Amino acid sequence: MRVLILSDIHANLVALESVLNATAGRYDVIWCLGDVVGYGPRPNECVAMMRERAALCAMGNHDWAVLGRSGIDVEDFNPHAREAVLWTRDVLTEENRAYLAQLADKPIHPEVADNLILTHASPREPVLEYILTPSIAMENFAEFPEQICLVGHTHKPAIYRWRLHEEVKVAGQPEETEQEQIATVELLRPQVGTLLKLETSPHQRLIINPGSVGQPRDNDVRAAFAILDLEAMTWLYERVPYPIELTQNQMRKANLPRRLIDRLSFGW
Ligand code: ZN
Repeated sequence: MRVLILSDIHANLVALESVLNATAGRYDVIWCLGDVVGYGPRPNECVAMMRERAALCAMGNHDWAVLGRSGIDVEDFNPHAREAVLWTRDVLTEENRAYLAQLADKPIHPEVADNLILTHASPREPVLEYILTPSIAMENFAEFPEQICLVGHTHKPAIYRWRLHEEVKVAGQPEETEQEQIATVELLRPQVGTLLKLETSPHQRLIINPGSVGQPRDNDVRAAFAILDLEAMTWLYERVPYPIELTQNQMRKANLPRRLIDRLSFGW
């Protein structure tokens, strides 16, 4: 089974459609890692698309904030993000709101892959925590037993590799030498278009982020996504250009904040 992995669409329908066009016929199901709405101008269309097409979808912090639930205070968002959340709340249809309301705010265990979980932010804090460093990743590897966890939230493509090493500890006398297990985490930056074999075992586990469809923050303005092949256990990370100015025009018409419009031109 080939899975199209989408994350952080953020109501950018033009970017989402470009990704779906570029991947037509190349996957069997879609899994979405959350933040379908927020920031962008087409929340209803993007939610409708995921309702129709995504087999699994995690709850993102923006999805949560739009619902106005306790646990995430929209006052904690920066002023521009907050403005977009409040605008989204106003325009979202009841049907789409109901869809967002039933998204999983705990890690999802797909039936088709028992060694893998997916969630929006982190296994420890599924809706909120940013995994941006190997040390935060290390703490999170202790929170799940599976070999792979897919996350979004940071809008930066990344692979954190956890490895258990056997190390020989020399304690002075040869007879006192003992084996010690040491865990390390390293951050790998996936290369666009390179098919990566996901080597996992009890000694090697991964936290993988496909980047963001609708608001990339790694200085690359193109929409980011990945295709995970569950049989071959490969990860193909890709980017596609999309007509950014179309999304920006839609945002201007909706009176969304200027800063949110501008950032799409730079990828931050
Ligand atoms: Zn996001």
